[in-house]
Amino acid sequence: MTSSPFRRLCHWGPISVLVIIKLITWAMIHMLGMWWPPHASLGGFVHAAIFLAFAAATLYYFLQSLLEGPGFVPYGWKPAKEEDTQFLQFCNVCNGYKAPRSHHCRKCGRCVMKMDHHCPWINCCVGHRNHCYFVIFLGSATIGCLQAAIVLTICVYQVINQIANIQSRTERDPAIYLTVSTFVLTLLALGMALGVVLAVGALLYIQVRSILRNRTTIEDWIMEKAVGRRVIGGVAPFMYPYDLGWRRNAALVINSARHDGIAWPLAPGCGQYDLTREQQAQKQLKALRSRVVVSVASYSGRWLPAQYPRAALHAPCTDEPRLALRPGTLLRVTRHRKYWMFGAMVESEGEEEIRGPRGWFPRAAVRPLHDKPE
Ligand SMILES: [Zn+2]
Ligand SMILES: [Zn+2]
Repeated sequence: MTSSPFRRLCHWGPISVLVIIKLITWAMIHMLGMWWPPHASLGGFVHAAIFLAFAAATLYYFLQSLLEGPGFVPYGWKPAKEEDTQFLQFCNVCNGYKAPRSHHCRKCGRCVMKMDHHCPWINCCVGHRNHCYFVIFLGSATIGCLQAAIVLTICVYQVINQIANIQSRTERDPAIYLTVSTFVLTLLALGMALGVVLAVGALLYIQVRSILRNRTTIEDWIMEKAVGRRVIGGVAPFMYPYDLGWRRNAALVINSARHDGIAWPLAPGCGQYDLTREQQAQKQLKALRSRVVVSVASYSGRWLPAQYPRAALHAPCTDEPRLALRPGTLLRVTRHRKYWMFGAMVESEGEEEIRGPRGWFPRAAVRPLHDKPE
């Protein structure tokens, strides 16, 4: 559970981010002192000040998005009108209904308002309350690291050039002095800065697009399925209910404190529960298409089961749970790969079946409950 703000910091994700910010800032301060000293010229001062401003903004907005958190749907929440509960899914963990646009995050252990994704770097979800902070964090990190990558590349090039010149015995005082350890640390900082520019820059693009369309990463998937379902089914096209035009969409994220994160402003002609009803319909379709299997052997729940060597070689690259099995367990399969299946334990097969824990298990440990004639 990472719903307590300060405990979120004690995790490899936030600690790595702090170490990376520290390393790149250190390397830049160290290099700028020799390459373009801030105390020697106005240009040097402004240049260093710009970098430090981006570094400070990165640190500040990183901590803000982590400490503010995404905003959680209150435990036991239900809509004001009793009859509206039919359009909503129920969360057994939070013991309440899932408000429109909210989703349950297994890692946060709560239903998250307007959930976008769970970010291991801030060790909590990106959602309604911290979306704006998160995007400013991404933006300042990308710009600051771009500046650092350019400066550090020039400096490293100069250092290498100097070493080459010394070896060829030319008489010239090196402008940049580095010991072996500071050189290695600078190279490391340069690598990290380049990595941030590429990876965080790409994420920044996705996030800005998501904000301007007022459509989260999860809602993108729902819409993709909604469109696909209608192409096959030949039903009227589905209208995404939250797109208010890019200006109002952006204002909604910037002024997120003014909104409760439960009732959302809608595009003309759309209803508050349009998307949740579509989600319910998709869930039913998924249940219809899924099949029930029964385990015929036991499985320890290990990621690399020695008992199933082929499955161990093709272990799914996800930290989703694995389901330990005993022979005779019924499972409803929702996803499958060549050597693995993902599904939920069920008590019995039928209309009102009760779903138990979900996870991955080796395909070789189960067989179909009803053998379909080929
Ligand atoms: Zn929940
Ligand atoms: Zn989360």
